[in-house]
Amino acid sequence: MAFNSSDTAAFKGVWVFCEQREGVIMSTSYQLLSEGRKLANDLGVELCGVVLGKDIKEEYLKALGGYGADKVYYCNHELLDVYTTDAYTKVICDLVEDKKPEIFLIGATNIGRDLGPRCAARLHTGLTADCTHLDVDVAKYKEFLKTTSTIDVDNTVFEENTNLKMTRPAFGGHLMATIICPRFRPQMSTVRPGVMQTQPYDEAGAAKTVIENVNVALSKDDIHVDVIEVKKAAKKLVDLIGADVVVSVGRGISKDVEGGIKLAEELAGVLGGVVGSSRACVDAGWIGADHQVGQTGKTVHPRIYVALGISGAIQHLAGMQDSECIIAVNKNESAPIFDVASYGIVGDLYKVTPMLIEAIRAAKAAK
Ligand SMILES: Cc1cc2nc3c(=O)[nH]c(=O)nc-3n(C[C@H](O)[C@H](O)[C@H](O)COP(=O)(O)OP(=O)(O)OC[C@H]3O[C@@H](n4cnc5c(N)ncnc54)[C@H](O)[C@@H]3O)c2cc1C
Repeated sequence: MAFNSSDTAAFKGVWVFCEQREGVIMSTSYQLLSEGRKLANDLGVELCGVVLGKDIKEEYLKALGGYGADKVYYCNHELLDVYTTDAYTKVICDLVEDKKPEIFLIGATNIGRDLGPRCAARLHTGLTADCTHLDVDVAKYKEFLKTTSTIDVDNTVFEENTNLKMTRPAFGGHLMATIICPRFRPQMSTVRPGVMQTQPYDEAGAAKTVIENVNVALSKDDIHVDVIEVKKAAKKLVDLIGADVVVSVGRGISKDVEGGIKLAEELAGVLGGVVGSSRACVDAGWIGADHQVGQTGKTVHPRIYVALGISGAIQHLAGMQDSECIIAVNKNESAPIFDVASYGIVGDLYKVTPMLIEAIRAAKAAK
């Protein structure tokens, strides 16, 4: 029977596209599996990981079960070794048409942002890009709204259904929009890397994972581009998402940009962290775009986030306000960053930061 994306009752299960690069699964996949597990539990269905690649180690596939997958669909083919839109779209659409999942999550990585919409269009379904929150359960969605919105949740009527409620920032981050896709399946969403928390690895889950080898129908004629060479960025990019401590600089370093970044590096060094930044510094060309935290940068939730000379615009907060401990240094006592800070220091960052570095060094030495 021909595939019909509007036959919603025929679709079941939650899927996560588990992206790999050079045979190694990317950490975004673990975040999405952890989130997908919760959705699958709420729906009482299976959670499946989908891996496309060539000769991926079995232990990597099994490990996906450690983050929640019941099953892994493994598409092993020479032409899937390196990502191409044509090959990945074809293989994924063939698999979706065959197995019919009701929800399909993809990381909003460069590859995910290319792949997701292409698959959605081909499958004739909807996709919400760049989501920061997902729910199927109405009660849980209401709880989410109570803590994050101004909606009078108790006096608002919500339709009881298990549609995927896909929330994402809209209008430059000034609003959060929840989008549903009630008439078509799968409900597709790309999810920002770093937003969903990875659950602890479960050995028993990994041991139980079922790996299903998919019969891949793919030939060179299906692919309209040739990948001649894959070149890595010459400079090693900063790993903001995985960092335990992030020390970020903002426009407050404008007086002495080099000195400000050096202080941030030094503070990050003593705390064992990395340097982040607001968009203002990236736009000014003071620091590389890979350092940017925020709505159009990375989303981080480190143990410690230090904001040096950052005002706390909503678009910056969107990327860091879930950090465990936020320390803000700003010379303006009414800067909005202090509203989310666990510790606020009103002062000049050029004076305060060396004092912080000194104090941490002294505390370490005393140990
Ligand atoms: C669609 C859209 C997406 C965006 N995405 C992002 C994003 O991803 N990330 C992001 O960061 N921004 C983003 N922005 C930009 C955002 O709105 C702000 O413009 C930006 O975050 C401001 O950066 P800032 O805090 O460094 O600079 P400012 O707002 O200029 O703040 C500088 C702060 O430094 C303080 N200061 C100055 N000198 C000192 C000193 N010597 N010591 C201590 N404090 C000092 C000042 O009091 C001030 O609070 C986005 C904007 C839009 C419209």
